[in-house]
Amino acid sequence: MLNRQGRPTSAGDGAITADTGTFTGNRALLQEEALIFESGRYETTGVDFDEPENFSPRLGGLAREGDIGLPGLSEPETMRHFVRLSQKNYGIDTGLFPLGSCTMKHNARLNERMARLPGFADVHPLQPVSSVQGALELMDELSRYLVTLTGMTSVALSPKAGAHGELCGMMAIKAAIDAKGEGETRRTVLVPESAHGTNPATAALIGFKVRTVPADTDGTVRVQAVKDLIGPDTAAIMLTNPNTCGLFEPEIVEIARALHDAGAYFYCDGANFNAIVGKARPGDLGVDAMHINLHKTFSTPHGGGGPGSGPVVLSQRLAPFAPVPFVTPGAEGLILVEHEKDADEKPFGRITAFHGQMGMYVRALAYMLSHGSDGMKQASEDAVLNANYIRAGLRDLMSQPFGDKPCMHEALFDDSWLKDTGVSTLDFAKAMIDEGYHPMTVYFPLVAHGAMLVEPTESESKSSLDLFIASMRDLAQAAKRGESERFAQAPFHAPRRRLDETRAARQPILKWTPPEPMREAAE
Ligand SMILES: *Cc1c(COP(=O)(O)O)cnc(C)c1O
Repeated sequence: MLNRQGRPTSAGDGAITADTGTFTGNRALLQEEALIFESGRYETTGVDFDEPENFSPRLGGLAREGDIGLPGLSEPETMRHFVRLSQKNYGIDTGLFPLGSCTMKHNARLNERMARLPGFADVHPLQPVSSVQGALELMDELSRYLVTLTGMTSVALSPKAGAHGELCGMMAIKAAIDAKGEGETRRTVLVPESAHGTNPATAALIGFKVRTVPADTDGTVRVQAVKDLIGPDTAAIMLTNPNTCGLFEPEIVEIARALHDAGAYFYCDGANFNAIVGKARPGDLGVDAMHINLHKTFSTPHGGGGPGSGPVVLSQRLAPFAPVPFVTPGAEGLILVEHEKDADEKPFGRITAFHGQMGMYVRALAYMLSHGSDGMKQASEDAVLNANYIRAGLRDLMSQPFGDKPCMHEALFDDSWLKDTGVSTLDFAKAMIDEGYHPMTVYFPLVAHGAMLVEPTESESKSSLDLFIASMRDLAQAAKRGESERFAQAPFHAPRRRLDETRAARQPILKWTPPEPMREAAE
């Protein structure tokens, strides 16, 4: 069956299910929404311009001759389209968002307010530096805070996401290795098997070979396992701490020492910094480079594709290779060093067109200043406490892959407790949607079978955690009772039912093609 817009309506086609039992397909005040191309009409427009008089285009032969092909809508139709789309979004402002490793914490309104101050929101990257001294001062101050919190020497602010920060940090490591004339030999990067996929991808992207470090039975990396792989070809390790199993790597200092003794570098994936801010400084642990996801640890909004911000802190050994641009004091106030030739040291180059995400800098600094050092420490402690509260509330029903022991800021479960129930991790996650929760991270890290990684963050209250635990317990007991129909078909109450995710990933349809009748109408 095709709907009014020519899209298939049966679930089997992996598209719309219109099984709402209503004439419109709407569910009470939850409205169905077509694509703008489907609801718009080529022959209509929301604005009317008079034909210009005595006008001759000066585009030579380049003027468009055919229709532009944009969907026309009236102003109210346009308004409703985008407002309805916005209502389909589940965000941290809607409910608990327990996506492990992503640190979906509350984005304080104060930070938003500060980011909208005209002096920050309206700056243009090509403005004369004399007119943006306040913005540069903020970047300088944020840098000082990041360096202080991490115990490192310097910071490159410009990377625009965690993965981009990884690239920046690894390029600094590569530059340091090249500067020592070891570029031909040090070609291998060690990456634990629990690592985020961006780590091996980053190393491979800049030409390193990746060797996998096996995890120990308790989910952590042993120094001996690292030593077994270290050789003259080792450039660096990329290690996450706390790791992606939510566990602190106890041998991190020994691992750092082993690498340094071998002339290699220690890249730390700092995405999980939220668990240790104010408690431990990566610089003291022997880290040479670490990205910080401002959009995780320091509460700047994320999800839906950005914008993120991934500054990289660097140790003394790597600081000289930090990329341009950077802020530094000049004769008449702060200046931006834009070109490698103007730097005293040896920047490896530049990795963004301009200076990074100003709005994220403002939000992150507002978060830091409003919390203070004691507040940031308490946020870390509460994040860890909340994760353990959830772990303790579920551990009699759900299995933990590395034993029943305290975690850091996220609690990891595997799927062995679902054995013989006919319910998979994916089914369980889909059933959570019916309960009004965005599911936790599933099937990551790969070291836990059918992983479910739950990160509540510090911003959840006890009552919201209690309701979440009660909902999870209700689902878990239903799964154990064999109520598999509640899971196999879930979600029942979402605007869309279960999608063919594999097909969507393998054969993405990224461009809308008009169904035949519309194409004819347009011609
Ligand atoms: C989020 C995350 C990254 C990547 O950060 P982005 O900002 O999404 O690019 C890398 N490693 C870990 C462990 C993460 O959780």
